[in-house]
Amino acid sequence: MINMDFPRKQVGFFPTPVTELKRLTEKLHGPKIFIKRDDLTGLAFGGNKTRKLEFFIGDALSKGCDTIITGGAEQSNHCRQTAAACAVSGLECHLVLGGSEPEIPQGNLLLDKLLGAHIHWDSKFRKGEMIPQISKELTLQGKKPYPVPYGGSNEIGVLGFVEAIKELKLQLSGMNEKISHVVFASSSGGTHAGLVLGKYLFEQKFDLIGIEIDKAEYEGLSYPDHLLKLTNAGAKFLGIDCAFTKNDFILRNEYLGGGYGVIGDLEKKAIKLLAETEGIIVDPVYTGRAFGALIDLIEKGEFASEDKVLFWHTGGSPSIFSYAEDLL
Ligand SMILES: *Cc1c(COP(=O)(O)O)cnc(C)c1O
Repeated sequence: MINMDFPRKQVGFFPTPVTELKRLTEKLHGPKIFIKRDDLTGLAFGGNKTRKLEFFIGDALSKGCDTIITGGAEQSNHCRQTAAACAVSGLECHLVLGGSEPEIPQGNLLLDKLLGAHIHWDSKFRKGEMIPQISKELTLQGKKPYPVPYGGSNEIGVLGFVEAIKELKLQLSGMNEKISHVVFASSSGGTHAGLVLGKYLFEQKFDLIGIEIDKAEYEGLSYPDHLLKLTNAGAKFLGIDCAFTKNDFILRNEYLGGGYGVIGDLEKKAIKLLAETEGIIVDPVYTGRAFGALIDLIEKGEFASEDKVLFWHTGGSPSIFSYAEDLL
């Protein structure tokens, strides 16, 4: 039996819009291009983590927790959305950020501070490695902390993107459209795992093309192994009687460039092109890279002209302000 009846707290505004990118389609002479605007989830500048947080906050509240703790890079979109979700839910928020405090906070970090988050710096790591330690300290202080893993990627976070497929299915049928491919940034895995599970549950036919963003390992696992493990954990949690294998994933790993958060020509050109043709801003770390990959795949002729490709805009725009020198 499929169980989708989990505690959930509304912190975003759904459905996010789906539109056709007519000017971009014309310019690239390839397949018809659509966009799903998860940069418009409405939670303090939006993004894909809002979908996951609805389930984390719901779970934390139902368990009587009063504090959320999570972690990420200095410019983490996940941390910024967590801080906002906590603010609107009356929860205390602790963030473990990689690096050290900059002189002037910019982008997401500035927002974390405005949103009232308590920030802990980890000079060595950027994937929330200090969460268990700080969680313990908070418990000793008499708080009831709820840890959310890096990127919100566990079986609970995955539910957000299972729901997102249901949302997209309804929108597409309302528009009388069929999509052949969905292209998106795949990084801590919750988005990709949820999309794969949602596609299975809601019987969608499109190919899900994940663009790998970060070549670093996940708790000793390669990214494809981590993603597979996460998807099967999600399947078990939902009660789906199906074992997923590596054949269920399309991951493109040729766009990693200089590594996580390193801006190259691919990202720079992609950001400018989408801004100038459609008035839409993608971010330097995730969506700029994924959108750059989509342009490259179109230019290489990987899609047929009758294909319809949906680019899932997963958000991230505030980080643009901390990369001004790399972008101009
Ligand atoms: C976190 C993030 C992603 C990747 O989603 P995962 O679920 O971590 O794979 C993509 N785009 C943006 C803007 C993000 O913040």
